[in-house]
Amino acid sequence: MDNRSGKGLSFVKRIYLPRIIGMGIGLFSVMAAMAPLSPPTWVWLLVLFNGIVWPHLAYLWAMRSAAPYQAEQRNLLLDSLMGGFWTAAMHFNPLPSVTVLSMMTMNNVAAGGKRLVVRGVLAQLAGMLVATLVLGPGLQLTATPLQVYACLPMLTLYPLALGWVCYRLAIKLAEHKRRLSALSLTDSLTGLLNHGAWKDLLLVKFQTCQQQQQQAVIALIDIDHFKTINDTFGHVVGDCVLRQMSEELKRNLREVDQAGRYGGDEFCVILPDTNEAQACLAMERLRERVASYRNPQLPHLRISLSIGLSAFDADLESPEHWLEQADKALYTAKHAGRDQVNFAQREATGLRLAYPD
Ligand code: GH3
Ligand code: MG
Repeated sequence: MDNRSGKGLSFVKRIYLPRIIGMGIGLFSVMAAMAPLSPPTWVWLLVLFNGIVWPHLAYLWAMRSAAPYQAEQRNLLLDSLMGGFWTAAMHFNPLPSVTVLSMMTMNNVAAGGKRLVVRGVLAQLAGMLVATLVLGPGLQLTATPLQVYACLPMLTLYPLALGWVCYRLAIKLAEHKRRLSALSLTDSLTGLLNHGAWKDLLLVKFQTCQQQQQQAVIALIDIDHFKTINDTFGHVVGDCVLRQMSEELKRNLREVDQAGRYGGDEFCVILPDTNEAQACLAMERLRERVASYRNPQLPHLRISLSIGLSAFDADLESPEHWLEQADKALYTAKHAGRDQVNFAQREATGLRLAYPD
């Protein structure tokens, strides 16, 4: 695997096509402006090299470099240096000069911000100085119709190419942002919602239940003696049990139910539009499914669950209060012998539903 991928290979690849287009069509502007000045043969060869060969050479040079990002920054400065050189070689013919310099500066803004723009301008000035020293000074302030037409492809196609590259980059960034935000809500081991994301949903559910008098039940589910499972079969098996548990939750719950990993071996579920009897039934089914789980490779492995349930009630003060009720119900289930579903005791009615074996 290429271990330089984080050091700007994608940056080099991103610049390759715009440079091929920019240099290729910039060639017309420069050649049209140079022709009336009858430059020596080596200048024509340099124009062709810069317009046709250089983009590929620059790409290979940067891709093979140990630090592709820095190499590409150097290439961009060489682009600017050559841009300045052609400007002075064209005797500062206004339209092709402004076309070449402004397109190059736009490229530098997009690729490296203020720092690259400043360094690019210095490179352009250096290029102008070199051309003036080598080819002699000159000023050509009028452009022929051919020179104007020769600049049109550069003025139209290059911004299009650069805009397209920026657009693709923006789409990629938006996709990365979406993935990161999904990751920040997910528990990495089980793929369920993590603690924070689930609690955010709990707050929303609490508010909708309050405002719209909806029914909902929350469940806290804890694996019994999970420490012993870890100690007996190892943490890898423990992790598999947690994943298996999340699969069972997904299989047994409805689309609308929201399951999360509360932490460690504890899971949490919001069951919307559900009454106490329905919630008990769903959790009993889950408890039985998990209790009947057998693994041929680990014949002695048994998993049991203690589950605490709490229904939304208008008397609840906050989501935390709601959660506390479910936690108390779970605690009671543990103390009553584990492997059972227990509903939160409601102070007003004294209702308590327990489903022991
Ligand atoms: P109880 O029946 O009272 O719930 O007993 P328990 O042994 O399950 O006790 P507790 O719930 O306190 O133990 C949770 C254990 O889960 C402790 C911790 O080492 C283990 N654990 C927490 N997170 C992970 C994890 O990601 N993977 C594994 N394999 N174990 C974990
Ligand atoms: Mg436990």
